[in-house]
Amino acid sequence: MKNDYYSTLCVDRNAASEEIKAAYRKMALQYHPDRNPGNKEAEEKFKEAAESYEVLSDPRKRELYDRYGHDGLRGNGPQGFSGFEDIFSSFGDIFEDVFGLGSGRRRSGTAARQGSDLRYDLKISFMDAAFGISPEIEIERFEKCGECEGSGAEPGTQPTVCPTCRGVGQVTRSNGFFSISSACPQCHGAGRIIENPCRTCSGTGKTNARKSIQIKIPPGVETGSRLRLSGEGEEGGFGGPRGDLYVFIHIEPHEFFERDGNDIVCRISIPMTRAVLGGNIEVPTLEGTERIKIPGSTPHGKIFKLKGKGIPHLREFGRGDQLVQVMIEIPTDLGKKEKKLLREFAELRGEL
Ligand SMILES: [Zn+2]
Ligand SMILES: [Zn+2]
Repeated sequence: MKNDYYSTLCVDRNAASEEIKAAYRKMALQYHPDRNPGNKEAEEKFKEAAESYEVLSDPRKRELYDRYGHDGLRGNGPQGFSGFEDIFSSFGDIFEDVFGLGSGRRRSGTAARQGSDLRYDLKISFMDAAFGISPEIEIERFEKCGECEGSGAEPGTQPTVCPTCRGVGQVTRSNGFFSISSACPQCHGAGRIIENPCRTCSGTGKTNARKSIQIKIPPGVETGSRLRLSGEGEEGGFGGPRGDLYVFIHIEPHEFFERDGNDIVCRISIPMTRAVLGGNIEVPTLEGTERIKIPGSTPHGKIFKLKGKGIPHLREFGRGDQLVQVMIEIPTDLGKKEKKLLREFAELRGEL
């Protein structure tokens, strides 16, 4: 059951709007959460008072309520507040009167903005992608101005509270049943006006700076992998948090290896005779060389697998494999004797 709005504010049913405002002001002061930290009962009373005032301060809503009670407000009445910031933005004018200009929580709640995210494209070598690397990258981003400490006001001066929105950063227009809030046209949401802008940052509170950041690229990244560095983006506005930095990885091709997921593929040419008679070959790997035994009668294009010689799995144990494809080389520089022997060989096989 909802309480009666008039009794919540302890006013008469025919109280004048000034009386209602004064009663609300008194209750808001008494039950304000800053004055009653952790007191659930006070919080409830504070919300009830705000809701009652929202209805009784609006002549149309008050009339509906007087005629039909709470039912009359269904769909038109208070939508319920999701938190105190809501209440602050709806009743900025009253809170201005009640709490003066020093209520930092309200100002940061309405005007603070997270900084933008930044993108950095990083090219790394095939080997660095395989085994990880911790390069230092240099980015250009907004930093808090060191001269004015981010306030935007020339050192020794203070920003003043915006007269249009009275520090809230938003203006609320009432249009029949709806209240529409939008950014204040004079201060653009900042809630303050800077009369003497800081000369270093021209009043923005931020300066463009180059910044070196050491990043850690784990083994096994692929082209298109994206690293998120939380809080390394642009400086936020009016005390808001920094944005994030996204590093996009691009991997340069390798002259010998190709990548297929976490496997690496390479091609090795072997002499025709080795393919026929069998023998050993040396194969380059990511870390050195490996010897592979080629059995006799190995066909062209056969693939040999070196287990665990591929790319390490990203943030997991184990590695992919190395796949070695053998390509049979046909000699192009046969000497006289070689030709003669091959002809004899062909004759024996009835291939001439
Ligand atoms: Zn500055
Ligand atoms: Zn303003």
